[in-house]
Amino acid sequence: MPSFLPLHSPFVTALRRTETVESLLVEVETSAGVIGVGESPQVWQVTGESVASAMACVDQMLAPVVVGRSIADWPSLSDEVQRVVARNFGAKAAVETALCDLAAQAAGVTLADLLSGAVLSGLPSGPGPDPRGVGVSEVSSGRNREVATDVTVSAAPPGEMAASALARLAAGFTHFKLKVGADPALDLARIAAVRDAVGPCPIRVDANQAWSRNNAVIAITTFYDAGLDLEFVEQPVRDDDVEGLAWVRARVPIPIVADESVYTLRDLDRVIDLDAADGVNVKLAKCGGPRQAVAILRRVREAGLETMVGSMMEGPVGVAAAANVALAGGTTLVNDLDAAWWLAEPACGGRLRYQSGRVILGP
Ligand SMILES: [Mg+2]
Repeated sequence: MPSFLPLHSPFVTALRRTETVESLLVEVETSAGVIGVGESPQVWQVTGESVASAMACVDQMLAPVVVGRSIADWPSLSDEVQRVVARNFGAKAAVETALCDLAAQAAGVTLADLLSGAVLSGLPSGPGPDPRGVGVSEVSSGRNREVATDVTVSAAPPGEMAASALARLAAGFTHFKLKVGADPALDLARIAAVRDAVGPCPIRVDANQAWSRNNAVIAITTFYDAGLDLEFVEQPVRDDDVEGLAWVRARVPIPIVADESVYTLRDLDRVIDLDAADGVNVKLAKCGGPRQAVAILRRVREAGLETMVGSMMEGPVGVAAAANVALAGGTTLVNDLDAAWWLAEPACGGRLRYQSGRVILGP
């Protein structure tokens, strides 16, 4: 069913501006009446998917794979969902999340615990859980399942971004992600204003593909020379310009994180082969579901890169699934899971809440 949730303030990046979260919520119900749920966010400018396209994909291609089948062999079912249609990663993520949700309920475990197990049939599973993964995402069962998250500050005039950052600091967040991607002088003023406002709190910036290669090097070098102490710069150049990502990374003194350049394991391998990034932001709506996300996280770590899990602007269903993926796959950077905090009415249905810069799962 379509879901339409207003935000408390506009979410503005170099690519888009939105005041709502629009998603397709997918429910898969067993004959016993148990329901699994997943979310496919509408992000025209990033993934190209919409509520209407996801609905068409689910109705015409994915539901026929799932309906009438047993949940017992859900990994194989999930593999079929991945294979039956090209791309459409948001729609596939919603269905696979719902299947995993059902399997977790059937097994009496959390989604994170389910995904931590031997669930990666048909996918490169890597060496299994990595102790480094507990650095940021604390794997735990039962109560107090939580992950650290940053909070985004929308692209805006410098003073406005500083005020937003201060309000988020007062709300308990201590890790900031600034949306940039304008000309380097304006971005410098924006970051400097927020740095003045939040003091020593970690700041990362996300250009959302906005810069040319040259402008990226000019901007990032300028930020470094100004002593703004940035944790990393995310996706400085276009998603398909992985060579450009590598070119920029080789010329700047601040770590580079790939986001829109990595949807699939194949994309990741290209980034690794070209030494194009220091880290990767993994999202369900890009990779097609929780199993793929965990497989990507593991391969990122095997390659010695930093990992984090993010989400699109989506509601509590999608953010909770992503947080479970972060717990299962392990992340070395603070995650990017503030999307549901932006909702005007944070009625998250008991799935999660935000407290002191953390996503806390469960009621
Ligand atoms: Mg990003």
